[in-house]
Amino acid sequence: MALRKLVAGNWKMHGLSSDLGEVRAIAEGSRRYPTVDVALCLPAILIERAARAVPGFAIGAQDVHEAEQGAYTGCTSARQLLDAGASLTIVGHSERREGQYESNSQIKAKAEAALSCGLGVILCVGESLAVRETGRAVSTVEAQLDASLPDGFAEGLSVAYEPIWAIGTGKVPGVDDIAEMHAALRARLEAAYGDAGQSVRILYGGSVKASNAAEIFSVAHVDGALVGGASLKASDFLPIVAAAAAS
Ligand code: PEP
Repeated sequence: MALRKLVAGNWKMHGLSSDLGEVRAIAEGSRRYPTVDVALCLPAILIERAARAVPGFAIGAQDVHEAEQGAYTGCTSARQLLDAGASLTIVGHSERREGQYESNSQIKAKAEAALSCGLGVILCVGESLAVRETGRAVSTVEAQLDASLPDGFAEGLSVAYEPIWAIGTGKVPGVDDIAEMHAALRARLEAAYGDAGQSVRILYGGSVKASNAAEIFSVAHVDGALVGGASLKASDFLPIVAAAAAS
C-alpha cells in the first residue's frame, strides 16, 4: 500500500528568531507539493512563534516529557507543546537516546503521552556502526522498535529508521539495506497493530539530501524522510520535498 509521504525537518539546536523567514519560505514552498505532508521540528523556544508565522503548516517538537505535568525542571509536556501550536513531536532520537540516556520504556511512555494528547509522533530507531558491522542491525532495531512502540496506538504514529552512523556524516546505507530494514519494521508494525500497522509511515533518516532523496524514496516501505542538516534552508529542503512528490 502506497502511503502519503511525510518529509519532516529536524532543526536540532539550530535556529533563532531571525531564522523564522526560513520557516516561512519552507512553508510557502511546500504548498507547491500538496501530495506530500511536510513538517518542521523546531527547538521548543521557536515553536510558538513559528506556529503563528505559518498557520496551517505542521510545526513539531523534538522531544516531549512523558508526564502530564509536574516537577520536571527544563522539560515540556505534550499539552504544553499543543498549547504552543505544535502538532507533532519526535521521540527517541538517537541524540537523546545516547546523550540523555533515554531508555526504550521511557520513549514508549513519551510516545503514549504525546499520542493520547493528540500530537503526532515520529518514533526514531536505528543501530550503531558497531552493531551494523556485526551483522545484527535488523534484529537490534526490531527489538528497539518492539520495546519503544506505544501500546494500542497506531493513528498519528510514524517511525523513523535512522542508522546512527548515517546521521550528519554524509554516509547512507545502500538501498538494499534500507529496503531490508524497512520491510522488517513494517512486519513488526503489523505484528503489533494488525492491519493498522500497514498505515504507519516508516521514514528514513540519515544524510538525506537533494542528490540522494529520489533514490531513497524509490525504496519499498520508505514513506518519507526525517532530515537534519538539509532542513535548515529552504533551498536544500524543498528539493527533497519535490523528490517525495515525484516518487
Ligand atoms: C537527524 O538527526 O534526524 C538526521 C537525519 O540528521 P542528518 O539529516 O543531518 O543526517
